[in-house]
Amino acid sequence: MSLNPHALRAEFPMFEHYPELVYLDNAATTQKPRCVLDAERHFYETANANVHRSAHRLSGLATEAFEGARETVARFLNASSADEIVFTRGATEAINLVANSWGSQNLKPGDEILVSGYEHHANIVPWQLIAAQTGAIVREIPVLPDGTLDRTAFLSLLQPQVRMVAITHASNAIGTHLPVLELAAAAHVAGARVLIDGAQAVAHESVDVQALGADFYVFSGHKVYGPTGVGVLYGKAELLADMPPWQGGGDMIERVSFAGTTYAPPPARFEAGTPPVAQAVGLAAALNWLCGLDRAALKQHEAHLCALLDAGLRKIAGVRTLATVTERAPLRSLVFDNAHPYDVAQLLDARDIAVRVGKHCAEPLLDALGVSGTLRVSFAAYNTAEDVTHFLEALAAALEDLA
Ligand code: PMP
Repeated sequence: MSLNPHALRAEFPMFEHYPELVYLDNAATTQKPRCVLDAERHFYETANANVHRSAHRLSGLATEAFEGARETVARFLNASSADEIVFTRGATEAINLVANSWGSQNLKPGDEILVSGYEHHANIVPWQLIAAQTGAIVREIPVLPDGTLDRTAFLSLLQPQVRMVAITHASNAIGTHLPVLELAAAAHVAGARVLIDGAQAVAHESVDVQALGADFYVFSGHKVYGPTGVGVLYGKAELLADMPPWQGGGDMIERVSFAGTTYAPPPARFEAGTPPVAQAVGLAAALNWLCGLDRAALKQHEAHLCALLDAGLRKIAGVRTLATVTERAPLRSLVFDNAHPYDVAQLLDARDIAVRVGKHCAEPLLDALGVSGTLRVSFAAYNTAEDVTHFLEALAAALEDLA
């Protein structure tokens, strides 16, 4: 089975509204297929009620839909149980949950948290915040100037006081895939826990959290064809079981009294308040849609678009691609000899080409690579070879205009 990106594009209403749109900002957020929009609408029209609470039939339907979505996510990640899946607002909230809950219980002064130099700020700042509260220390696993991870430095940093290794599966700024399997295995031998930020991986890779050896794995719904406002924390059952709540409210309790409150088991313990029910239903529809594609063919398609892009870029003077490693998410980060990425992006926008510019919430990485900002092109299933051609033509024209 091969993938027909034109047919896929037709499943996305955004492109009916903007037929000329060349959307190359998929690492920021993907567009949504009709089936995801339909699933949310169907939920609101036929099953909307609050979950886990009321005695009436609709509440039962809503609970069934929400818990069914949890099962779908568990299958998507190959978690051993749906109880290992916590719904959050996104990857950011999922990391903050682990940093606060796991961190407050497991970190003491002098303990260390290793964070790779590739991380999105969402996988740096929560660790800095909990380190400031607990007396733990955040240390950077450095990135080499060629954009690869300094494995030697990692191994020497991996001392007994390291309690957590927080690493991205793929860099949102330059695409590099980290050798997460190998890093997680080494971290476990050293007695540390591992959190993997899968925000940039799940739309492109089949992820098996058990095979990866992840203690925690997080992602956002909106980057994997799903809605905004919902994300996922996978946590190993035995770790979640020992973690304290991080937010209080309805649904996360077992019994409340002024004499003392007891808490529900996971995942409810970590889902205070009304959860993003319709969004979880939409996310499940997105994951089912994605898994309905031939994922090997999808990977090949996205790699093909990258190859076309790389070949075209070689013919344009004054453009450099950061980090030319082979194992990468389907994105490219570009810098220009004689033009500012922002000016280029504005000229591209005038031709209906959407890209992202800036530091991509990864300032330490850009500092390590010695650049102040890049123009990022990122692909999804519905991108076509014509999208790449349009981009290359518009880029060449923009660079000429700006010269
Ligand atoms: N990690 C990575 C690697 C990301 O790319 C992003 C989003 N750019 C995040 C975390 C944060 O995701 P969200 O804003 O959806 O919580």
